[in-house]
Amino acid sequence: MRMQTYIARKRIALFAMFLLPLAAGGCTTNPATGEKHLIVISREQEIAIGVEAAPEFEKEFGGRVPNEQLQAYVQMVGGKVSSVSEREMPYEFTLVQSKVPNAFALPGGKIFISAGLMSKMTNERQLAAVLGHETAHVAAQHNVMGMQRQMGAAVLVDIAGQIAGKEKAGSAQAATKVVAGMVGLKYSRNDEYQADKLGIRYMARAGYNPWGMVELLTVLLNLSKSEPGSMGEMFRTHPLTSKRIAEATDIIEDKHKGFSPSTADPNANRFLEMRRLLLTTVSGLAEK
Ligand SMILES: [Zn+2]
Repeated sequence: MRMQTYIARKRIALFAMFLLPLAAGGCTTNPATGEKHLIVISREQEIAIGVEAAPEFEKEFGGRVPNEQLQAYVQMVGGKVSSVSEREMPYEFTLVQSKVPNAFALPGGKIFISAGLMSKMTNERQLAAVLGHETAHVAAQHNVMGMQRQMGAAVLVDIAGQIAGKEKAGSAQAATKVVAGMVGLKYSRNDEYQADKLGIRYMARAGYNPWGMVELLTVLLNLSKSEPGSMGEMFRTHPLTSKRIAEATDIIEDKHKGFSPSTADPNANRFLEMRRLLLTTVSGLAEK
């Protein structure tokens, strides 16, 4: 009897030990992918982490491009593709001054695209493709799961706690850890295929020709051949292979038959006008 009580207690203790770190998050079905994941932080904690880390992250990539017309344009295109995603989050899009082509998504929905990447594109649907792809990393929670995998669940819970605690020093320290983690985060190839697939879906829902995704991936692949050095960072964080182009092509041919790759982007002119403005605002960007 005593032994049984002991075992029962031990079981409860063990159960509590496993349950405790999951108190805020837990096993949930992701609305974008339909997959079940064990995530140790809640949606609210995820948003708080992003809000806290965003200013430092922005600084890391040269700060905001100081032109509100450009910021409003990027927000408008990003708003279209993110408003049709399955996961409702406070998505926010910022153009940063870094000349190195890249785009990032923090947990919680803060998304960044570099001036270097925008300057390599030729129309609006390519911009919608990048922002749709980054929205997908947030919607599918690739970034939260990546941080959890990379830092360990206990550290992530700790960070969420420090940020929720609102104690300035602790909160700033936690934000620095998030920024370091996110800068070094490398998505898996499967995350990339899934983000392309969801990005294509959001583009089509928002009225963009999803062939823009194939155009974008082709631009990036060509750049990786002509400027391998400048593209290193982007490929480290978002692995790109010719297989991604083939996969995206298959999805569009299968699911979005109504769109043609040869139709011109009706918004190309307003994009090019914005790109010209970007080239005059951020010096040292080469026009392709
Ligand atoms: Zn990616």
